[in-house]
Amino acid sequence: MFKSIPLAATLILTSSTAIASVASPDWGTCVANLQQTAKSQGLSQHTIDTTLANVKYVARVMELDNKQPEFSSSFENYFTKRVTDWRVQQGRKLYKEHKALLQDLAKEYGVPPQYLLAFWGLETNFGSYKGKMSVLNSLATLACDPRRSQYFTTELMQALKLKEQYGFDEKQMVGSWAGAMGHTQFMPSAYAKYAVDGDGDGKVDLWNSTEDALSSAANFLQNLGWKREERWGREVTLPADFSYAYLGRSEAQPLTKWAELGLRQTNGSALSTPDMQAALYLPSGHTGPAFLGYDNFNVIMKWNRSTFYAIAVGHLADRINGAAGLNVNPPKMPNLSRARVKELQTQLNVLGFDVGKPDGILGSKSLKGLQAFQKDKGLVADGYPSEATFKALAVK
Ligand code: CA
Repeated sequence: MFKSIPLAATLILTSSTAIASVASPDWGTCVANLQQTAKSQGLSQHTIDTTLANVKYVARVMELDNKQPEFSSSFENYFTKRVTDWRVQQGRKLYKEHKALLQDLAKEYGVPPQYLLAFWGLETNFGSYKGKMSVLNSLATLACDPRRSQYFTTELMQALKLKEQYGFDEKQMVGSWAGAMGHTQFMPSAYAKYAVDGDGDGKVDLWNSTEDALSSAANFLQNLGWKREERWGREVTLPADFSYAYLGRSEAQPLTKWAELGLRQTNGSALSTPDMQAALYLPSGHTGPAFLGYDNFNVIMKWNRSTFYAIAVGHLADRINGAAGLNVNPPKMPNLSRARVKELQTQLNVLGFDVGKPDGILGSKSLKGLQAFQKDKGLVADGYPSEATFKALAVK
């Protein structure tokens, strides 16, 4: 199943919308097939002839798609670019501007204002960068790439249905290279399913109506399972003798267990321990900040399947709501190339620490394998591929 692009994808900034003169030789056949699919799904002949027939292959989309998994940014690099003082200030300012609406949405959907502002800030810098690429061209290009054809064909059909339903001009339908649209970067299927008419003008317009966009984000989060009255998680401090026995989402524990293990709030006070599960995340290893992610953390990850993203949304929300910055600043770490991580995984397998088939992506199996190796070598078993760990594995 296709996993790297979530229902609402994060914005990928690009100014280039260059259309390649040379498409794949199968482009014509593919577009003809898409027209058949559109017909079978009940789209009008008019839409098929005037819109779908004219979609263009965009080489830049494939470039950006292929570029995605090459490097994973370090947490420090990711976080400091996204949770900025400007965004905190802007979030607070916009809270005042949209207070009545945000409070209504909190009441109706259970999602507090600061979270809606944080998603808005992270996705499009509060609507200032909504993406400029043609959504229909992007989706058609990705639909004609065999790797995830089914997923993007579905999204393309959905985008065409939205165009028919609301009478959008295709020039208006712009977004990220992956087809995410509007203030909150909804993919077409999320748009169709969860977007709502917040300003009551009879049209759901995520590009031009802030009310529609914020209401839609609230409705989407409620549907993803957002728990009213609960936080996203929090930064925590670990005791000096911490054993890192339970790390990552697959090792979630009751809050009472974390309190027993000696975790505390960053101000030194005891963790509050309502009946909830929480997972521990160390996005830059044991020298960086530690976070507990609660149930709403997993809801944020349904919007965008990235722990970095979920931490950034949660922390930006806290900051907008008046909190101070992180207690422990994320340390500078090198970005990791996929090739290097693959080598690390291969070496762990060779040494008998099973991490499954090397894919260059640090998942839960890699985390466990790394921890076992680190323990064996007397390194801090935080499951983080530190330079010391690379060195011990003889991986350059
Ligand atoms: Ca509207």
